[in-house]
Amino acid sequence: MKVDVVIIGAGPAGIVSSIELAKRGLKTVVIDEYFKPGGRLLGQLYEDPNLPKENRQWNGKVIASQLIDEAVALGVTFICQTTVWKIEESFIVYITDKDIKEIHAKSIILATGALEKALPVPGWTKVGVISVGAAQTFTNLHNVKVGERILFVGIDPLSISVAIEMKNSGIDVLGMVLPTPSTLSGFKSDPKTILESLALVSNLAPNKLFRFFGKFVKGKISSITLSILKYNLIKINGIPIFLRKAVTEINGVHEVESVTIRELSTKGEIMQGKVETLVVDTVCISGGLLPLVDSTQLVNCKLVDIPEIGGIVPLHNKYLKTTVNGVYVAGNITGIEGAKVAMAQGKLAALSLLNDLQLVEQAELLEAYDLVEEARKASPILFQPDIRKGRNIMQEKWEEYCASGSVVS
Ligand SMILES: Cc1cc2nc3c(=O)[nH]c(=O)nc-3n(C[C@H](O)[C@H](O)[C@H](O)COP(=O)(O)OP(=O)(O)OC[C@H]3O[C@@H](n4cnc5c(N)ncnc54)[C@H](O)[C@@H]3O)c2cc1C
Repeated sequence: MKVDVVIIGAGPAGIVSSIELAKRGLKTVVIDEYFKPGGRLLGQLYEDPNLPKENRQWNGKVIASQLIDEAVALGVTFICQTTVWKIEESFIVYITDKDIKEIHAKSIILATGALEKALPVPGWTKVGVISVGAAQTFTNLHNVKVGERILFVGIDPLSISVAIEMKNSGIDVLGMVLPTPSTLSGFKSDPKTILESLALVSNLAPNKLFRFFGKFVKGKISSITLSILKYNLIKINGIPIFLRKAVTEINGVHEVESVTIRELSTKGEIMQGKVETLVVDTVCISGGLLPLVDSTQLVNCKLVDIPEIGGIVPLHNKYLKTTVNGVYVAGNITGIEGAKVAMAQGKLAALSLLNDLQLVEQAELLEAYDLVEEARKASPILFQPDIRKGRNIMQEKWEEYCASGSVVS
């Protein structure tokens, strides 16, 4: 099979890229491991208070299906349940499809998204323990109730939004606590850091007081917010958030029956004294997200580690061009942000590619770049508090790379 562009990943970034390319007549194939296109968008269902009232619901399943229809109508081919396992230079893309074995393409866009970090808690291999991403997919995509009485371990923008989604769908969400302090849990067991991070989701709360609190906390922790920690409990949408409680054990013979909870000091140390047992049938663990970069190794993109955007990512310029000529990136592979940013980046990567082929004017590229910034401002969930700083660091690293005499190969 011969095409102009192969896109790896049919999430919002990949699909939007394919639409922009197909609109300009480029033959485009999108490959995805999952059984249908849509990526993480498929599991998203929440209210975005930044939008007008009549238009507030963000239903990822509906948005994905509109985007897929548009792409298919423009002639984009989707190949699902298929993995890319090798890419040879300039470019031959080998895939696991039963009929098509290789695709010859002039350019590639990597849009493989993110993966969940594992967060081990004693007892986490029992039936009834589920990761937050899986819980979100069961709840919003497949309409499956993952349990009757759920406790969340790990308090972050994603777990809070999923807890709200679950509560809205009628599941009994008992609360959210921190993981047992360990070298792996890191800041996720630190009440102060977690309290600060709540500002990143304050937009999601319909409760005006909490939204005010979010704005108030943003950027700094004051003595007043520290005193909030003394009370141990705040609520978001009626869900108790226990900032100074940690699960130390998930109990049960084969299946989850209860959890053991201990109190934490404001510094995140386990306190001696009261031990609580809470009866639950499901524990939902959230360890955070990482950009999924393994596909970059197939084309030898240079990688850099920038914690502010989520960890190790392919080095790229502000127009999403990587260190390998003809290879572009879009969406969460470039850093952890929400779906709106991924969609805007999908457009930017496509226009960057088209601009390199002199098929669009520079002005269109600059406009697409501005749209990414606008999407970032309008995002209801901020996954990485220092994302802008991280993006600036990336640009500096790119400039250093170019100044060092390294050429885009
Ligand atoms: C568990 C989880 C929950 C999230 N929840 C939200 C949320 O509620 N709201 C929000 O705004 N954002 C959420 N996000 C962030 C989310 O990733 C972005 O919203 C958005 O979906 C990113 O788009 P993307 O196109 O970059 O990646 P994705 O939507 O993740 O799509 C990437 C696609 O690439 C495919 N893929 C990966 N590797 C390969 C390969 N080698 N070969 C073939 N296909 C491959 C995957 O199957 C996937 O379909 C979540 C992320 C995760 C991981």
